[in-house]
Amino acid sequence: MSYIEPAPITDKENPLESMMQRFDKAVQLLGISEEMYHILKVPRKQVIVGLPVTMDSGEIRTFEGYRVIHSTILGPSKGGIRFDPGVNLDEVRALAAWMTWKCAVVDIPYGGAKGGIACNPRQMSAGEMERLMRAYTTSMLDVFGPDQDIPAPDMGTGPREMAWLMDEYSKSKGMTVQAVVTGKPLVLGGSLGRTEATGRGVMVSALAGMEKLRLNPYRATAAVQGFGNVGSHAAALLRERGVSVQAVSDLSGAYYNEGGIDVEAAISYRNRNNGSLDGYQEAEFIPAEELLSLPVDVLVPAATEDVITFRNASSIRAKMIVEGANGPTSARADDIINEKGIMVVPDILANAGGVTVSYFEWVQNRIGYKWTLERINRRTDRIMKEAFNKVYETSQQYQVPLRIAAYIVAIDKVASTYKYRGGY
Ligand code: GLU
Repeated sequence: MSYIEPAPITDKENPLESMMQRFDKAVQLLGISEEMYHILKVPRKQVIVGLPVTMDSGEIRTFEGYRVIHSTILGPSKGGIRFDPGVNLDEVRALAAWMTWKCAVVDIPYGGAKGGIACNPRQMSAGEMERLMRAYTTSMLDVFGPDQDIPAPDMGTGPREMAWLMDEYSKSKGMTVQAVVTGKPLVLGGSLGRTEATGRGVMVSALAGMEKLRLNPYRATAAVQGFGNVGSHAAALLRERGVSVQAVSDLSGAYYNEGGIDVEAAISYRNRNNGSLDGYQEAEFIPAEELLSLPVDVLVPAATEDVITFRNASSIRAKMIVEGANGPTSARADDIINEKGIMVVPDILANAGGVTVSYFEWVQNRIGYKWTLERINRRTDRIMKEAFNKVYETSQQYQVPLRIAAYIVAIDKVASTYKYRGGY
């Protein structure tokens, strides 16, 4: 279709470019009109704020913060807040669009958004983080709201930051508003199962994919890149289902054990060791990049964007990639991976367990009632399995990889909702 201008090809990977290339492909297969293409492509709102924060030294530093609302067609926008030195507007725009597609794939009534602040949480004190989070919340009082835009944790943020956000927002309204944010500590209205939820969804979609490839989990091996909230829980849950996790990694490097890593022990080590696997002795230390090319059955990139690129894609030996992170594979690696016949369970499906339990948290806050962990896990597993099956059937129907099929499912849902609503 002529109205689709190809995203510029640069040597540098760019998550927005990657998102757009897959979006364009799915739009062409769906035969969507030019009008609809632009409705779905252009973010509804993009807010950039300057945030002066007094550091512990007394110096005032000004940070730049973003919130991009990509879509509100299916409901209030939903998406995490990222604290990372690499945060920039293009990245936040890609992540916001991914949230739209992710919520649509798992069929929860949310649009997509993302926020971020370019900062280095590893070099900031708790007090500095708190002042930054509160300043950001104050700047976004018109944007956030339980029926409007509902943030959550992402890289570099967690329950502690969500508590500050809820408190600051609630103070401005003169009442406690739990449902303005998800991923909160349990005592503030957080949900059971939210912390493990993304890892759990990764495990459920990995098992669903393994079933299609006729891989027996008790004979399968995996490597997990990233040992934060997503990677560590995914590794532990895969292990629990019989998979031998041969390698894990974090910023300190990768750790390999052919006989399988004791994931629970590695998590305890990390917790005692300032959040890092540095110095972990129960496995062989290998260069971080080597983890991606290990001859395992399942590779789980659960760290950050663009780790699998056209430069290293040909060295991947796994039978299946399950994307715990958002955007870990750049669009230019797709063809290489598809040619190798590797099944990719894409991010917008594989890591949707997190936002699914966020949705449950929001529902519980609104009805003022707490669900049991058993109910939450059962519902999450069902939603993830149904989404996997729908994407799988769509991939058969259109004869496309799971990634493009997931975009087709999502775009079709958002576009048809828009048509029924008659414009919004
Ligand atoms: N940041 C997570 C994600 O990328 C969770 C978002 C949410 O729960 O709203 O999916």
